[in-house]
Amino acid sequence: MQDLQNALPSAPEDARSLVAWYRAQKRDLPWRRDRDPYRIWVSEVMLQQTTVAAVIPFYERFLKRFPTLRALADARVEDVVAQWAGLGYYSRARNLHKSARALVERGGFPRTWEELIELPGFGPYTARAVASLAFDQKTGVLDGNVIRLLSRRHGSDVDWWKPRGRERLQALSDGIATATDAPADLNQGLMELGATVCTPQKPACLICPWSPRCVARLGDRIEALPRKRPRREREIWIWYPRVIEKRGRVALIANAYAPFLKGHWITPGAVRKASVAPKRFDYRHSVTHHDIFVVVGKGETDELAPKADVKWVPRASLKEFVPTTLIRRAIERSTSQE
Ligand code: SF4
Repeated sequence: MQDLQNALPSAPEDARSLVAWYRAQKRDLPWRRDRDPYRIWVSEVMLQQTTVAAVIPFYERFLKRFPTLRALADARVEDVVAQWAGLGYYSRARNLHKSARALVERGGFPRTWEELIELPGFGPYTARAVASLAFDQKTGVLDGNVIRLLSRRHGSDVDWWKPRGRERLQALSDGIATATDAPADLNQGLMELGATVCTPQKPACLICPWSPRCVARLGDRIEALPRKRPRREREIWIWYPRVIEKRGRVALIANAYAPFLKGHWITPGAVRKASVAPKRFDYRHSVTHHDIFVVVGKGETDELAPKADVKWVPRASLKEFVPTTLIRRAIERSTSQE
């Protein structure tokens, strides 16, 4: 608890210097131009997946297609997923859509993270980001960049991937957010400083507003913090998709049988965990820690379970329903087997 006790007296000065630094240095980004919770929310969900530079074109395209919460709520989920293509993690697009409907139904955004987190797809980070950036709630954000920044600033070597370590860092973030009257700029500053100055390698300590009090810098422990997360072991899976086609339409079911792409619409089939890679396969694909070797086969309609919830998707619309190439490739491969 040493870092927490030390952090509290320094919180007002850390907050003041960070807000001043952010106001002077901030990048002009499209979602920072107003405080519309909808726009902030969309940008934060996208930013969890990739860098600011990569998000900008996706964000602008998405907002053009769905300019308001109402427009998103009224859209078909397939259209939302199609607009998400290229960003990955399609469950986030589905949750965004689900939450938009729930938000419209309740008459708009609640103003606190405690209420936002009740909605599908709002994790602790997104709920806190929207509540503070749009509504000035004094709550601190915690993402990968902020974890690195706060771990170094306070010399905190907790296991940040475990709930207790997370709670410690969340308390540090909340401590500084409650020590300012500008929680929106404070949180943007945390994210910006973590992303642009306190970088994983070679942080630019010379221009950091926290440099005089940074425990990692003063103790020469920058490279040791934050702690390295133990690597998750890779798993080898062999996937046998069965491509079943009827009059130009392909059968898709909600995935409940494969450990990867849970909840996605995929072809029926089977999976097997293996200890070594197979010698014969059609193609290979990786999803998170799963190494997937795909063996494509053509199936018949009587292979479908009698009560299965089947979606028959025209080949021409596959891109809309199946944004991931892992599944589309299997369907394309089956054609070349004819
Ligand atoms: S002084 Fe260096 S290590 Fe410490 S918070 Fe700033 S950039 Fe990070």
